Amino acid sequence: MVGMVHGNGRTTWMCYATKAMEAENKQVIFKGFIKGTPKETDLQVMAGTRIQLKAPKGSGAFLVKNLYLSCDPYMRGRMRDFRDSYIPPFVPGQPIEGFGVSKVVDSDNTSFKPGDLVSGMTRWEEYSLIRRTEQLRKIKQDDDIPLSFRLGLLGMPGFTAYAGFNEVCSPKKGEYVLVSAASGAVGQLVGQLAKLLGCYVVGSCGSSQKVDLLRNKLGFDDAFNYKEEPDLDAALKRYFPQGIDIYFDNVGGEMLDAALVNMRIHGRIAVCGMVSEKDLSDPRGIHNLYNLITKRIKMQGFLQSDYLHLYPRFLEDVISLYKQGKIVYIEDMNEGLESAPSAFVGLFSGRNVGKQVIRVATYE
Ligand code: NAP
Repeated sequence: MVGMVHGNGRTTWMCYATKAMEAENKQVIFKGFIKGTPKETDLQVMAGTRIQLKAPKGSGAFLVKNLYLSCDPYMRGRMRDFRDSYIPPFVPGQPIEGFGVSKVVDSDNTSFKPGDLVSGMTRWEEYSLIRRTEQLRKIKQDDDIPLSFRLGLLGMPGFTAYAGFNEVCSPKKGEYVLVSAASGAVGQLVGQLAKLLGCYVVGSCGSSQKVDLLRNKLGFDDAFNYKEEPDLDAALKRYFPQGIDIYFDNVGGEMLDAALVNMRIHGRIAVCGMVSEKDLSDPRGIHNLYNLITKRIKMQGFLQSDYLHLYPRFLEDVISLYKQGKIVYIEDMNEGLESAPSAFVGLFSGRNVGKQVIRVATYE
């Protein structure tokens, strides 16, 4: 607020300058630790909070406007009060943390200036004050690639596909590859990378719309809806009469068990995720592990973060493949922070078709 004293001794208080420097900051709040499958009511969209559109002097922080936010299955793990993990739990009463694409609006950090675009860890709110920059990258807008792809194809899920397939699966031309959750953020790129290498690729997924996408848009050799297969072992025998060399496992559970039985000698299983087990406090257990011995299978869990040294090569390779039209990428875009709870919860029933993203604001 600015005071102006007139000749007659009266003071006029001008508030507009201060008002312009703050804004409403809608947030998505994590209500508290949960058990079981996440529900929309576990998150609360809260309006009314206001934020100063200035990075505090001397803080080294910068303020961003969030443009796109990413919904990722690993975030379910942060909703448990479990500290023995590679990532700490969310803080009840605070906004959800997650990957986003954001624009810097004010900065007290010489490395980030207003107008810069960044991609990395932010919070589910309209504006965020960023104090820690280790998990953020500056990005440039490329008119040929949607900005939101920084959360999918060119972001953490795309990198997971690239590192997991190339480094963990040791793939070779002509091999037989099974991918689960195949139309999702990770799976769709795994399958396309495998096809580019000359593998035979079959995807499993949870709807006929996804089967159609895999066969007709993403170039998989074949695809099936696991929900319509009463016997997964029999289904895999039908799709892979000669057996599976590589299983890229995004789901765990029954599909992993059935894949173990159908692996070929010296097969590889990349254990990327266990989304089918996420809501079980008592996991169902895997019964067919003896196949690891008889077929000399290598089964390896991995975290994409172990391979970050490959990130520059990944970006170069995948951007080039995308620009040449050799890969495509499917996104499921929800509009507005209000839709964030349902978008997130939808991951665990397979409602998302492609990489689930939330558009919070448009880039100007
Ligand atoms: P996504 O596939 O885009 O979305 C999740 C999908 O999982 C849903 O669309 C659904 O697809 C499937 N799903 C949900 N519940 C299921 C169930 N009970 N059984 C079988 N499938 C189920 O997710 P994403 O981002 O690509 O992630 C895929 C997996 O990779 C997740 O397990 C995630 O945790 C893991 N991940 C691991 C790393 C790492 O570093 N290791 C990094 C990123 C992601 P359908 O309709 O096809 O069932």
